[in-house]
Amino acid sequence: MRKRIYKEVNDELEKRRFNAMLLADKRKEEIFSKVPQIAVLDDEIRKLGIRLGLSAINGDYRKDEIKQKLNETIGRKRALISRCGYPADYLDNVHTCMYCKDTGYIKSDSGSSRCSCFKSLLIKSLLKDSNVTRAGGTFKDYDLDLYPAEPDVERYKAKESPREIQAKNLARCKEFVRNFHTKQADNLIFVGKAGLGKTFMCNCIAIALIEKGIPVVYMSAPDLFDNIASKYSQDEEEREKAIELDELLTNAELLIIDDLGTERQTGSRYAELLDILNSRELMSRKRICKTIISTNLSLKNIFSAYGERVASRIIGGFELLEFVGDDIRIKHRNLSC
Ligand SMILES: [Zn+2]
Repeated sequence: MRKRIYKEVNDELEKRRFNAMLLADKRKEEIFSKVPQIAVLDDEIRKLGIRLGLSAINGDYRKDEIKQKLNETIGRKRALISRCGYPADYLDNVHTCMYCKDTGYIKSDSGSSRCSCFKSLLIKSLLKDSNVTRAGGTFKDYDLDLYPAEPDVERYKAKESPREIQAKNLARCKEFVRNFHTKQADNLIFVGKAGLGKTFMCNCIAIALIEKGIPVVYMSAPDLFDNIASKYSQDEEEREKAIELDELLTNAELLIIDDLGTERQTGSRYAELLDILNSRELMSRKRICKTIISTNLSLKNIFSAYGERVASRIIGGFELLEFVGDDIRIKHRNLSC
């Protein structure tokens, strides 16, 4: 997945460089036909550039003199372009990103570093692949005030207040992101009633990782199982998509399965879920391969819905974070009324 996404970004940069070349040729043709003197200066600049390069290699004492002449000629060319009513950098300003000229790298004395355009292209590709959006929530939007500050043992079945519990969950999830590549095994399961912000938290984690350039696959359980079912489809294209998805589900550095238990109740979902968890467990021994599950089901219900093997895989391999409180969707609605 990572390889494919980097290829996508590099292909896009290559396309941009090619378009820049076409645009430069078109602009040259336009300007040179109007003012042939600019073409003469352009040719002179090219020759001076070559002479400067050679003089640097040969240690020619006239290096500075050539450099000065080159700068003067560039200045004359720009002034002439300006005088014709064009922006002075009309022939040079052809790239989408002027910082790196669409190479994706910026060279400096200390070496080369990735340009910000590379990072934004990477994030764009990762987001497209992951099924998440910034609108779905980020850590910056996380609002602990939506959770009750007062403990209520009877109501919430916990000694601490929902806000305290949620603050700990939030800190744990931020730590999950921070140590994503340093901690080997680290799977989480969010358990709690609907409307307590589990999906929101999944989204926060996904966005935070994507912004670090880490591929994430987010799928709601209904989508996940429907897509898996497509591998038995009569339609060849559907089957191919399902195979591609299968690969993603096994290989993604982070897979988020949201809302487990809300999918259609089919007999095969137990085996399919076990398959995914088993292959990811195997993969995690070789490289980073983490999973987050969110569910409205209690562990007891997971046991009855998916059987002992799935339940024990989850209990043994996932850290449980309980989400406690009142439905924050209702709170949101009341606040906006
Ligand atoms: Zn750039």
